[in-house]
Amino acid sequence: MDTSASTVPQPLAHPFLKGQKALVTGANSGIGKATAIGLGRVGADVVVNYVAGRDAAEEVVREIESFGVRAYAHEADVSQEDQVVDMVSRMVKEFGTIDVMVANAGLQRDAPITDMTMAQWQKVLDVNLNGQFLCAREATKEFMRRGVVPEVSRSAGKIICMSSVHQIIPWAGHVNYASSKGGVQMLMATLAQELAPHRIRVNAVAPGAIRTPINRSAWDTPEAEAELLRLVPYRRVGDPDDIANVVAALASDFFDYVVGTTIYVDGGMTLFPGFATGG
Ligand code: NAD
Repeated sequence: MDTSASTVPQPLAHPFLKGQKALVTGANSGIGKATAIGLGRVGADVVVNYVAGRDAAEEVVREIESFGVRAYAHEADVSQEDQVVDMVSRMVKEFGTIDVMVANAGLQRDAPITDMTMAQWQKVLDVNLNGQFLCAREATKEFMRRGVVPEVSRSAGKIICMSSVHQIIPWAGHVNYASSKGGVQMLMATLAQELAPHRIRVNAVAPGAIRTPINRSAWDTPEAEAELLRLVPYRRVGDPDDIANVVAALASDFFDYVVGTTIYVDGGMTLFPGFATGG
């Protein structure tokens, strides 16, 4: 069987998010980059958040602008409250509002528990969980201020949390990361419950193994990739566009009745593949 990565088809050039304003955090690399570009491709104006790497962020902006929509790059550390507040308030000034918040920024600081420093634990929780809380809070304030604008969307706003299969799969040697994503799951579900009456939809996307810099060592040699694919029933490593396509769909009114759900985009990684031949 051919297990090589295939090119993920792009949505038809139908601008189904036309007129919507989206912010994607951690958007100059990997999944965030593909998502920011993907949202632009289907008509959204996009803020490209980054914390380091201005040139890469500007490149993403240029690519989005090539679809005839607006974009700009904004430097902010999502774990810093004042920076997130400023980022969203600038967006409201420049674009008029926000319709879609994609809380994607995340990182790993791996170590076995006996070696894990408090700084490693804290950094991962600060970015992966606190950052999502801050982004969700600031977007929600604007969603509530503005309410539903029927010509734009049936909902008052969409929050999409980038989680991971590790919100449910324990991951030895990564207790900070797995705990942060477990936290994201409950952050998402609780906010979904709290905000649904305001017509704000909160959902999560949980990627499995996607080919990005965060997990390069898991796929950058044929041996590592073969080992990784033992965990993936669909037998291919995912591409960032696999996630971007789902985010774009989830942000659209096609998914208007989807509230408080995690969509696993993982080639079946959460299907307990170890039980396929035993158990
Ligand atoms: P990546 O390293 O390519 O991208 C992460 C992005 O987050 C980068 O742009 C980075 O600069 C940014 N970032 C880090 N700290 C930040 C901060 N304090 N403020 C703002 N931005 C910050 O990795 P990726 O794979 O694209 O990861 C994106 C998201 O997807 C993460 O939340 C990650 O946990 C999740 N995820 C990835 C995979 C995978 O297989 N790649 C699987 C499951 C979940």
